[in-house]
Amino acid sequence: MSKINIPQRLKMLRSNDEVACELISFIQEQNLSSVALVTTGTPNHLITNDIEVALFDKVQKLKTFQVINASIAYVNQLPLTDFNVVVGIGGGKVIDTAKYAAHINNIPCISIPTAISNDGICSPVAVLKEKHNSYKSLGASIPAALFVPLHIIESSDEESIISGIGDLLSNLSAIEDCKLAAVENGEFIDDYAVMVSKQAALSVYSEIQNYILQRKTKSQFIKENLETIVESLALSGVAMEIAGTSRPASGAEHLISHAIDELFGGLKPHGIQVAFGMFITTFLRAELGLIEKKYFEELRAIFRFLGLPVRLSEIGLTENQLVQILQHAPNTRPNRYSILNKINLSHEFIKELISTLFGQKTTITV
Ligand SMILES: [Zn+2]
Repeated sequence: MSKINIPQRLKMLRSNDEVACELISFIQEQNLSSVALVTTGTPNHLITNDIEVALFDKVQKLKTFQVINASIAYVNQLPLTDFNVVVGIGGGKVIDTAKYAAHINNIPCISIPTAISNDGICSPVAVLKEKHNSYKSLGASIPAALFVPLHIIESSDEESIISGIGDLLSNLSAIEDCKLAAVENGEFIDDYAVMVSKQAALSVYSEIQNYILQRKTKSQFIKENLETIVESLALSGVAMEIAGTSRPASGAEHLISHAIDELFGGLKPHGIQVAFGMFITTFLRAELGLIEKKYFEELRAIFRFLGLPVRLSEIGLTENQLVQILQHAPNTRPNRYSILNKINLSHEFIKELISTLFGQKTTITV
Protein backbone atom coordinates (compact mmCIF):
# COMPACT_ATOMS: atom_id res chain seq x y z
CA MET A 1 0.00 0.00 0.00
CA SER A 2 1.31 3.44 -0.87
CA LYS A 3 1.74 5.99 1.91
CA ILE A 4 -0.58 9.01 1.82
CA ASN A 5 0.49 12.26 3.45
CA ILE A 6 -2.23 14.55 4.70
CA PRO A 7 -1.32 18.01 6.09
CA GLN A 8 -1.14 17.87 9.88
CA ARG A 9 -2.52 21.34 10.37
CA LEU A 10 -4.91 23.67 8.54
CA LYS A 11 -5.63 27.08 10.06
CA MET A 12 -7.62 30.00 8.68
CA LEU A 13 -6.07 33.15 10.15
CA ARG A 14 -6.90 36.84 10.23
CA SER A 15 -3.64 38.68 10.97
CA ASN A 16 0.11 38.42 10.38
CA ASP A 17 0.57 37.89 14.14
CA GLU A 18 -1.79 34.92 14.12
CA VAL A 19 0.09 33.38 11.19
CA ALA A 20 3.44 33.89 12.95
CA CYS A 21 2.11 32.37 16.23
CA GLU A 22 0.72 29.27 14.48
CA LEU A 23 3.91 28.84 12.47
CA ILE A 24 6.13 29.10 15.57
CA SER A 25 3.98 26.68 17.54
CA PHE A 26 4.07 24.13 14.67
CA ILE A 27 7.82 24.28 14.01
CA GLN A 28 8.58 24.05 17.74
CA GLU A 29 6.32 21.01 18.13
CA GLN A 30 8.07 19.37 15.19
CA ASN A 31 11.58 20.34 16.43
CA LEU A 32 12.35 22.24 13.22
CA SER A 33 15.17 24.64 14.07
CA SER A 34 16.60 25.74 10.70
CA VAL A 35 14.00 27.57 8.64
CA ALA A 36 14.23 28.62 4.99
CA LEU A 37 11.58 31.18 3.99
CA VAL A 38 10.78 31.25 0.27
CA THR A 39 8.88 34.33 -0.90
CA THR A 40 8.79 37.26 -3.33
CA GLY A 41 9.06 41.01 -2.68
CA THR A 42 5.85 42.95 -3.09
CA PRO A 43 3.10 42.23 -2.23
CA ASN A 44 4.33 39.72 0.38
CA HIS A 45 7.01 41.78 2.13
CA LEU A 46 4.81 42.90 5.06
CA ILE A 47 3.78 39.42 6.17
CA THR A 48 7.29 38.08 5.46
CA ASN A 49 8.85 40.85 7.60
CA ASP A 50 6.47 40.12 10.48
CA ILE A 51 7.24 36.38 10.28
CA GLU A 52 11.01 37.02 10.12
CA VAL A 53 10.82 39.23 13.23
CA ALA A 54 8.69 36.70 15.11
CA LEU A 55 10.94 33.75 14.18
CA PHE A 56 14.27 35.54 14.72
CA ASP A 57 14.96 34.43 18.32
CA LYS A 58 12.87 31.24 18.18
CA VAL A 59 15.01 29.25 15.73
CA GLN A 60 18.72 28.51 15.32
CA LYS A 61 18.92 29.42 11.68
CA LEU A 62 16.70 31.58 9.48
CA LYS A 63 17.23 32.70 5.91
CA THR A 64 14.89 34.27 3.36
CA PHE A 65 15.13 33.43 -0.34
CA GLN A 66 13.43 35.74 -2.84
CA VAL A 67 12.09 33.85 -5.85
CA ILE A 68 13.11 35.77 -8.96
CA ASN A 69 12.38 33.08 -11.54
CA ALA A 70 10.25 30.12 -10.45
CA SER A 71 12.12 27.53 -12.51
CA ILE A 72 13.50 24.04 -11.96
CA ALA A 73 17.02 25.46 -12.38
CA TYR A 74 16.35 28.06 -9.65
CA VAL A 75 15.15 25.42 -7.18
CA ASN A 76 18.10 23.12 -7.99
CA GLN A 77 20.63 25.78 -7.02
CA LEU A 78 18.95 26.77 -3.72
CA PRO A 79 21.45 26.02 -0.89
CA LEU A 80 19.06 24.20 1.46
CA THR A 81 21.21 21.36 2.79
CA ASP A 82 21.51 23.00 6.26
CA PHE A 83 17.77 23.62 6.64
CA ASN A 84 15.12 21.28 8.01
CA VAL A 85 11.95 23.04 6.80
CA VAL A 86 10.91 25.25 3.86
CA VAL A 87 8.15 27.82 4.40
CA GLY A 88 6.55 29.23 1.23
CA ILE A 89 4.92 32.67 1.65
CA GLY A 90 3.31 33.95 -1.54
CA GLY A 91 1.28 33.11 -4.63
CA GLY A 92 1.23 29.98 -6.78
CA LYS A 93 4.80 30.25 -8.12
CA VAL A 94 6.26 30.71 -4.64
CA ILE A 95 4.29 27.81 -3.13
CA ASP A 96 5.28 25.56 -6.07
CA THR A 97 8.94 26.56 -5.60
CA ALA A 98 8.74 25.80 -1.86
CA LYS A 99 6.98 22.42 -2.39
CA TYR A 100 9.52 21.27 -4.99
CA ALA A 101 12.51 22.58 -2.99
CA ALA A 102 11.26 20.65 0.06
CA HIS A 103 10.76 17.54 -2.05
CA ILE A 104 14.25 17.41 -3.57
CA ASN A 105 15.86 18.20 -0.20
CA ASN A 106 13.66 15.64 1.57
CA ILE A 107 12.43 18.09 4.21
CA PRO A 108 8.87 19.25 5.07
CA CYS A 109 7.18 22.24 3.50
CA ILE A 110 4.75 24.70 5.11
CA SER A 111 2.38 26.60 2.83
CA ILE A 112 1.30 30.20 3.57
CA PRO A 113 -0.59 31.17 0.38
CA THR A 114 -1.24 34.87 -0.13
CA ALA A 115 -3.37 34.18 -3.23
CA ILE A 116 -5.64 31.30 -4.23
CA SER A 117 -5.42 31.40 -8.02
CA ASN A 118 -5.07 27.62 -8.41
CA ASP A 119 -5.35 24.30 -6.57
CA GLY A 120 -1.64 24.13 -5.78
CA ILE A 121 -1.89 25.69 -2.28
CA CYS A 122 -1.82 22.24 -0.69
CA SER A 123 -1.11 19.72 -3.46
CA PRO A 124 1.73 17.25 -4.12
CA VAL A 125 2.37 18.76 -7.57
CA ALA A 126 4.55 21.74 -8.57
CA VAL A 127 4.44 23.43 -11.96
CA LEU A 128 7.78 25.11 -12.71
CA LYS A 129 9.44 26.60 -15.75
CA GLU A 130 11.75 24.15 -17.51
CA LYS A 131 12.99 26.03 -20.55
CA HIS A 132 11.82 29.13 -22.35
CA ASN A 133 7.99 29.22 -22.05
CA SER A 134 7.75 25.52 -21.27
CA TYR A 135 6.50 24.38 -17.90
CA LYS A 136 6.79 20.99 -16.28
CA SER A 137 4.43 19.37 -13.79
CA LEU A 138 6.60 17.78 -11.08
CA GLY A 139 6.01 15.54 -8.10
CA ALA A 140 6.46 17.58 -4.90
CA SER A 141 5.90 17.40 -1.13
CA ILE A 142 2.32 17.99 -0.04
CA PRO A 143 2.63 20.68 2.67
CA ALA A 144 2.89 19.42 6.25
CA ALA A 145 0.83 22.45 7.35
CA LEU A 146 -1.31 25.08 5.66
CA PHE A 147 -1.66 28.48 7.34
CA VAL A 148 -4.05 30.65 5.37
CA PRO A 149 -3.84 34.46 5.82
CA LEU A 150 -7.48 35.19 4.91
CA HIS A 151 -6.97 38.92 5.59
CA ILE A 152 -4.49 39.02 2.68
CA ILE A 153 -6.41 36.71 0.34
CA GLU A 154 -9.65 38.69 0.71
CA SER A 155 -7.87 41.81 -0.49
CA SER A 156 -6.18 40.03 -3.43
CA ASP A 157 -7.57 40.84 -6.86
CA GLU A 158 -10.89 39.26 -7.78
CA GLU A 159 -9.55 37.72 -11.00
CA SER A 160 -7.10 35.61 -9.01
CA ILE A 161 -9.87 34.26 -6.74
CA ILE A 162 -12.08 33.55 -9.78
CA SER A 163 -9.14 31.69 -11.30
CA GLY A 164 -8.94 29.51 -8.16
CA ILE A 165 -12.68 28.79 -8.42
CA GLY A 166 -12.23 27.92 -12.11
CA ASP A 167 -9.45 25.44 -11.29
CA LEU A 168 -11.66 23.92 -8.60
CA LEU A 169 -14.80 23.59 -10.77
CA SER A 170 -12.66 21.95 -13.46
CA ASN A 171 -12.37 18.88 -11.17
CA LEU A 172 -15.87 17.96 -12.37
CA SER A 173 -14.58 17.79 -15.95
CA ALA A 174 -11.42 15.91 -14.91
CA ILE A 175 -13.53 13.32 -13.09
CA GLU A 176 -15.57 12.63 -16.23
CA ASP A 177 -12.27 11.92 -18.02
CA CYS A 178 -11.18 9.58 -15.19
CA LYS A 179 -14.40 7.58 -15.70
CA LEU A 180 -13.98 7.58 -19.47
CA ALA A 181 -10.34 6.44 -19.20
CA ALA A 182 -11.43 3.59 -16.91
CA VAL A 183 -14.16 2.39 -19.28
CA GLU A 184 -12.44 2.92 -22.62
CA ASN A 185 -8.76 2.66 -21.77
CA GLY A 186 -8.85 0.17 -18.89
CA GLU A 187 -7.24 2.63 -16.47
CA PHE A 188 -7.49 2.18 -12.70
CA ILE A 189 -9.90 4.65 -11.11
CA ASP A 190 -9.20 5.66 -7.53
CA ASP A 191 -12.77 5.98 -6.24
CA TYR A 192 -11.83 7.68 -3.00
CA ALA A 193 -9.68 10.33 -4.73
CA VAL A 194 -12.49 10.95 -7.22
CA MET A 195 -15.01 11.31 -4.39
CA VAL A 196 -12.84 13.86 -2.53
CA SER A 197 -12.17 15.84 -5.71
CA LYS A 198 -15.86 15.81 -6.67
CA GLN A 199 -17.13 16.88 -3.23
CA ALA A 200 -14.54 19.70 -3.13
CA ALA A 201 -15.84 21.10 -6.43
CA LEU A 202 -19.52 20.42 -5.72
CA SER A 203 -19.54 22.31 -2.42
CA VAL A 204 -18.62 25.47 -4.34
CA TYR A 205 -20.70 24.61 -7.45
CA SER A 206 -23.94 24.19 -5.46
CA GLU A 207 -23.33 27.26 -3.34
CA ILE A 208 -22.91 29.35 -6.51
CA GLN A 209 -26.26 27.97 -7.73
CA ASN A 210 -27.86 29.09 -4.44
CA TYR A 211 -26.47 32.60 -4.94
CA ILE A 212 -27.81 32.70 -8.50
CA LEU A 213 -31.27 31.62 -7.26
CA GLN A 214 -31.20 34.23 -4.51
CA ARG A 215 -30.11 36.89 -7.02
CA LYS A 216 -27.02 37.73 -4.98
CA THR A 217 -23.83 39.09 -6.54
CA LYS A 218 -20.48 37.53 -7.36
CA SER A 219 -18.77 39.83 -4.82
CA GLN A 220 -21.16 38.68 -2.09
CA PHE A 221 -20.44 35.06 -3.00
CA ILE A 222 -16.66 35.54 -2.76
CA LYS A 223 -16.85 37.53 0.48
CA GLU A 224 -19.15 35.05 2.22
CA ASN A 225 -17.49 31.84 0.94
CA LEU A 226 -13.77 32.50 1.02
CA GLU A 227 -13.09 29.82 3.65
CA THR A 228 -15.11 27.23 1.73
CA ILE A 229 -13.17 28.03 -1.45
CA VAL A 230 -9.82 27.67 0.37
CA GLU A 231 -10.93 24.42 2.05
CA SER A 232 -12.11 22.99 -1.28
CA LEU A 233 -8.81 23.90 -2.98
CA ALA A 234 -6.94 22.21 -0.12
CA LEU A 235 -9.16 19.11 -0.50
CA SER A 236 -8.40 19.06 -4.20
CA GLY A 237 -4.71 18.77 -3.33
CA VAL A 238 -5.49 15.91 -0.96
CA ALA A 239 -7.40 14.13 -3.77
CA MET A 240 -4.22 14.31 -5.91
CA GLU A 241 -2.16 12.93 -3.01
CA ILE A 242 -4.60 10.02 -2.56
CA ALA A 243 -4.54 9.24 -6.29
CA GLY A 244 -0.75 9.69 -6.51
CA THR A 245 -1.34 11.78 -9.65
CA SER A 246 -3.05 15.03 -10.63
CA ARG A 247 -5.64 12.90 -12.56
CA PRO A 248 -8.71 13.67 -10.34
CA ALA A 249 -8.16 17.40 -10.86
CA SER A 250 -6.73 17.50 -14.38
CA GLY A 251 -8.29 16.17 -17.57
CA ALA A 252 -8.88 17.44 -21.11
CA GLU A 253 -9.72 20.93 -19.83
CA HIS A 254 -6.14 21.15 -18.50
CA LEU A 255 -4.76 19.84 -21.80
CA ILE A 256 -6.59 22.68 -23.56
CA SER A 257 -5.02 25.19 -21.16
CA HIS A 258 -1.55 23.64 -21.69
CA ALA A 259 -2.09 23.99 -25.46
CA ILE A 260 -3.00 27.70 -25.01
CA ASP A 261 0.26 28.14 -23.03
CA GLU A 262 2.40 26.26 -25.53
CA LEU A 263 0.95 27.84 -28.68
CA PHE A 264 0.15 31.36 -27.52
CA GLY A 265 2.21 31.85 -24.35
CA GLY A 266 -0.81 31.85 -21.99
CA LEU A 267 -3.64 34.37 -22.28
CA LYS A 268 -5.31 34.33 -18.86
CA PRO A 269 -4.52 32.95 -15.38
CA HIS A 270 -4.36 29.12 -15.27
CA GLY A 271 -7.76 28.62 -13.56
CA ILE A 272 -9.54 30.83 -16.10
CA GLN A 273 -7.98 28.95 -19.01
CA VAL A 274 -8.91 25.53 -17.56
CA ALA A 275 -12.44 26.81 -16.91
CA PHE A 276 -12.66 27.79 -20.58
CA GLY A 277 -11.41 24.28 -21.41
CA MET A 278 -14.13 22.85 -19.19
CA PHE A 279 -16.76 24.91 -20.98
CA ILE A 280 -15.74 23.15 -24.22
CA THR A 281 -15.35 19.63 -22.75
CA THR A 282 -18.68 19.80 -20.91
CA PHE A 283 -20.41 20.91 -24.11
CA LEU A 284 -18.78 18.02 -25.98
CA ARG A 285 -19.89 15.46 -23.38
CA ALA A 286 -23.45 16.79 -23.54
CA GLU A 287 -23.42 16.60 -27.36
CA LEU A 288 -22.05 13.05 -27.23
CA GLY A 289 -24.78 12.04 -24.77
CA LEU A 290 -22.29 11.25 -21.98
CA ILE A 291 -23.98 13.74 -19.64
CA GLU A 292 -27.39 15.41 -19.68
CA LYS A 293 -27.56 18.70 -21.61
CA LYS A 294 -28.97 20.44 -18.54
CA TYR A 295 -25.51 20.16 -16.88
CA PHE A 296 -23.98 22.23 -19.64
CA GLU A 297 -26.71 24.86 -19.24
CA GLU A 298 -26.10 24.89 -15.46
CA LEU A 299 -22.41 25.41 -16.10
CA ARG A 300 -23.08 28.25 -18.55
CA ALA A 301 -25.20 30.01 -15.88
CA ILE A 302 -22.42 29.56 -13.28
CA PHE A 303 -19.79 30.89 -15.69
CA ARG A 304 -21.93 33.95 -16.50
CA PHE A 305 -22.38 34.59 -12.77
CA LEU A 306 -18.62 34.38 -12.13
CA GLY A 307 -17.62 36.24 -15.29
CA LEU A 308 -15.71 33.19 -16.60
CA PRO A 309 -15.34 33.07 -20.41
CA VAL A 310 -18.34 31.81 -22.40
CA ARG A 311 -17.31 33.52 -25.67
CA LEU A 312 -14.15 33.37 -27.77
CA SER A 313 -13.68 37.13 -27.42
CA GLU A 314 -13.69 36.78 -23.61
CA ILE A 315 -10.70 34.43 -23.64
CA GLY A 316 -9.04 36.38 -26.46
CA LEU A 317 -8.94 33.70 -29.18
CA THR A 318 -10.03 33.53 -32.80
CA GLU A 319 -11.81 30.50 -34.27
CA ASN A 320 -8.68 29.43 -36.14
CA GLN A 321 -6.57 29.66 -33.01
CA LEU A 322 -9.06 27.48 -31.12
CA VAL A 323 -8.90 24.88 -33.92
CA GLN A 324 -5.11 24.75 -33.48
CA ILE A 325 -5.46 24.53 -29.69
CA LEU A 326 -7.93 21.63 -29.74
CA GLN A 327 -5.81 19.74 -32.27
CA HIS A 328 -2.65 20.29 -30.20
CA ALA A 329 -4.18 19.67 -26.74
CA PRO A 330 -3.85 15.82 -26.65
CA ASN A 331 -0.13 16.15 -27.55
CA THR A 332 0.59 18.23 -24.44
CA ARG A 333 0.23 15.09 -22.30
CA PRO A 334 -0.11 12.11 -24.63
CA ASN A 335 -0.68 9.52 -21.87
CA ARG A 336 -3.66 11.33 -20.39
CA TYR A 337 -6.70 9.72 -22.02
CA SER A 338 -9.62 12.14 -22.21
CA ILE A 339 -12.77 13.14 -24.08
CA LEU A 340 -10.46 14.52 -26.80
CA ASN A 341 -9.42 10.94 -27.64
CA LYS A 342 -13.03 10.08 -28.32
CA ILE A 343 -13.67 12.57 -31.10
CA ASN A 344 -12.33 13.16 -34.56
CA LEU A 345 -10.19 16.27 -34.23
CA SER A 346 -10.46 17.15 -37.90
CA HIS A 347 -10.53 20.79 -38.94
CA GLU A 348 -14.14 20.42 -40.16
CA PHE A 349 -15.39 18.81 -36.95
CA ILE A 350 -13.79 21.43 -34.72
CA LYS A 351 -15.11 24.27 -36.89
CA GLU A 352 -18.59 22.78 -36.56
CA LEU A 353 -18.13 22.40 -32.80
CA ILE A 354 -17.05 26.03 -32.48
CA SER A 355 -19.94 27.38 -34.51
CA THR A 356 -22.43 25.33 -32.47
CA LEU A 357 -20.94 26.31 -29.13
CA PHE A 358 -20.13 29.95 -29.81
CA GLY A 359 -22.19 30.76 -32.91
CA GLN A 360 -25.63 30.26 -34.36
CA LYS A 361 -25.66 26.56 -35.26
CA THR A 362 -27.81 24.43 -32.97
CA THR A 363 -26.33 20.91 -32.93
CA ILE A 364 -23.15 19.20 -34.11
CA THR A 365 -22.98 16.06 -36.20
CA VAL A 366 -21.16 13.30 -34.31
ZN1 LIG B 1 -5.13 23.28 -12.46
